[in-house]
Parts: sequence; structure tokens; C-alpha cells
Amino acid sequence: MAAPLGAFDPLDPPDYEGILDCIHCGICLPQCPSYRVLGLEADSPRGRVYLMRAAAEGRLGLTPALVTHMDRCLGCRACETACPSGVPFGRLLEAVRGQIERRVSRPLGHRLLRTAVLGLFPHPRRLGAALGLLRLYQRLGLSRLVRRLGLLAAFPRLQALERLLPPLPPRGKRLPDRLPATGARRGEVALLAGCVQRLLFPEVNAATARLLARSGFAVTVPEGQGCCGALHLHWGDRQAARALARRNLQAFGGEALVVTNAAGCGTALLEYGDLLPGDAAAAAFNARVRDVSQLLAETAPVPTHPLPLTVTYHDPCHLAHGQRIRAEPLRLLRAIPGLRLVELPEADLCCGSAGVYNLLQPEIADRLLERKLDRIVETGAEVVVSGNPGCLLQLRMGLARRGLGIRAHHPVELLAWSFEGRAPTREG
Ligand code: SF4
Ligand code: SF4
Repeated sequence: MAAPLGAFDPLDPPDYEGILDCIHCGICLPQCPSYRVLGLEADSPRGRVYLMRAAAEGRLGLTPALVTHMDRCLGCRACETACPSGVPFGRLLEAVRGQIERRVSRPLGHRLLRTAVLGLFPHPRRLGAALGLLRLYQRLGLSRLVRRLGLLAAFPRLQALERLLPPLPPRGKRLPDRLPATGARRGEVALLAGCVQRLLFPEVNAATARLLARSGFAVTVPEGQGCCGALHLHWGDRQAARALARRNLQAFGGEALVVTNAAGCGTALLEYGDLLPGDAAAAAFNARVRDVSQLLAETAPVPTHPLPLTVTYHDPCHLAHGQRIRAEPLRLLRAIPGLRLVELPEADLCCGSAGVYNLLQPEIADRLLERKLDRIVETGAEVVVSGNPGCLLQLRMGLARRGLGIRAHHPVELLAWSFEGRAPTREG
């Protein structure tokens, strides 16, 4: 018997079997950040799956209440880690969001932001031009003025976006298309440069390429690669995500491992097989994707120069829950001489970044960020480390807002500093 559609239409409906996998045990509830903040069953994984089932069985439409509870989900997938029944919550949520975005009328502010974000990210030139204007905006001191006078207070989403924007780095040198291996040669890897990583954290990409080369990999940065599609998946635009997946499959043809240093991008790359069922290249691609921490934990030589810093580690959701990678970044940090690693309580609780969540749900995102900052301060760390640009933007914004002298960096930066005997060059 065909699965019921109920309130959903046949274009990418949520998987009914996956919905039925929920046995209502509630084990996921304490792990869910939105439930921890709001305390409502409908804002828990179990409550959301219940709403999805009611919609699939035609007992509930795509009502404002259903939309609100799906909107408040961070898509962090902590519930998947906790779930003993294997409920594929991330995929269910993406499918439901796709249905909502296509079929439910949204307020103008939401539509404008969605069009701007999804229209910019697949187009490096447009994104570069937008960042050029924002760089000018910061250089002219307009950013300070806007913040001091609270000029965006009437536009909370725009205000959240403006606050999130870090001091933009000067337009950096492009990564070379090819970097030869400097250590004993192990093979070739292809690096995903990423949209946010490439433009806002060029030093992370440069450190990644140098470390991979030092570990014996010839590094290529394939031309023609584009946005991984993570933001489109978060925002329910699976058609656009498919087009981006096809483009990347072509750009990353061949057999080399595909390395990413952005947790959110890695999880999106690993979804290409699901996005393009029956596509042999997409299925094979999944087996080639590696987070940089995985590959370096296996292959990097022992770092050399002492780095006398007290450091704590925040798990990006899409690394810990999306890819189940937790130990490797810690192993890399522990190998650095002189570095003192202190455990972060609730390290795998979302910081509130979650793709564009901090723009769409700024109040909940802020409560999660404040909680994360409290935990970081308790550790006494000078540096908090996390392997995802969204987390770094969120943490840096929060740390700066509180006037804390704590910096936020990607693990590869610390590793590179130790290998190269360099002190940090940019304040986080
Ligand atoms: S994805 Fe995260 S926020 Fe959403 S239901 Fe699961 S644990 Fe909660
Ligand atoms: S842990 Fe899994 S099976 Fe249990 S309530 Fe949560 S989603 Fe359902």
C-alpha cells in the first residue's frame, strides 16, 4: 500500500516509514536544544514527528502552528544521535520544510531574506560583490553608527545579520589551484573551498591546504566547484540543492578524496546520494568525502612548536550529530605540545548558529548562544575551537558582544600555528 500523503504533495514528501519509526520513547527530548529552551512537547523531536505524522495522515494541514514548530527546529540532529529507533529526523525535517516553503505563504521579510541568501550563495561573483559593499560599509564606520543608534531595531532579522557579520578580512589571495605534497606522498585530495569559508575565513582554507600537503597529499582546488547546497537543504529548496550537487559531482570527478573543513558542508556533501537516488556518481561520491579532521588525525605528522594556550572544543552539530565525528578534532588538539585542552560542558549542544537559524529565530538562537558562552567562560579557556564557519561566526559575535578576551578558531589554525611556529595573527 502506498504511503499516505495527507497534507503533503507528491514532490519530495517526508518518508512515512521514517515517521513511523518513532516509538515515542522520549529519549531525544533532553538532547533537543529547542525543547531545552522552550520546554514544549511540540518543540521537541517527538512532538515534531507527531505533527508530521498527523499531517501525513490527513489529520492536520500545514497550519501556522505546524509551521511555527518546524521553524523553531535547529536541524541540529542531536535527536538522531539520541534516538534508539533510527528516526531519520534531519531528512524528515528537510522534506517538511520543502513542502512548507513551496506551499505556505510567508511574511515579506522571510521571503526577501530567503531570496537574498539562496540567490547569493550559489553565485561566487554575486557573493563577492555583496561582501565588497559590506567591507566598504565597515570601513566607512557605518556599521558602528548603525549599531550605536540601533537603526535596525525595527528589522530584527536584518539586525541579526548585521551583528553576525565579523570585521571582514581584506580580499585575500586566492588559493592556488594545486599545491604539491611536501611530506612523503600519499595521494591526491580535492578541497571544497566553501562559500563562507572562502570569503570570510580564507586563513582556514590556506591552513587546511598547507596541512594536507605536509601530510603527503597533493591538494587540488577544482575549478567549477560551487556551493555545497547546505543552506538550500536547511531552507527546504531540494531542487536547487540537487542542481548544486550535480555541479559539484562534475567538478569533483575522478577518485580523489574530497576534503571539507566546514562541518555543515560535509553533511550536505554526504547527502548527495539521497538527493540523487539512482545516480551512481552520487552514491560513490559519499564514500570519498572526508572532514579535514578525519584525514589529518590519520596522517598528519606530530606538530612541533609548543602552543601554550588553554583551549576548549565546541562540537559543531553537523560534525558530531550529522557525521558522528567527535574524537578526531580532539586528537589533533591533544597532539599539540604545550596546549592544555579543557573539556567544555554541553560541548555538543547547539550554539544557535544552525545555518540561517540565528537570522530566522534570533531570540532562541541568542538564548542558546548565551548558554554556550556561560559554559565556555566556566572552562577558563583562552581559545574556543570549532570546525564550522557558522559556529565560528556565532561564537565570535557572542564573545565580542560580552567583551570577553576569548578567541574562536578552527582546529586547523592551531595545528598550523604549531607546525609553523607562528602566533595567532587575527583576533577572533
Ligand atoms: S534537529 Fe535539533 S532542534 Fe530539531 S528536533 Fe532534533 S534535536 Fe531538536
Ligand atoms: S528518541 Fe527517537 S523514537 Fe524516541 S521519541 Fe525521539 S524520535 Fe521518537
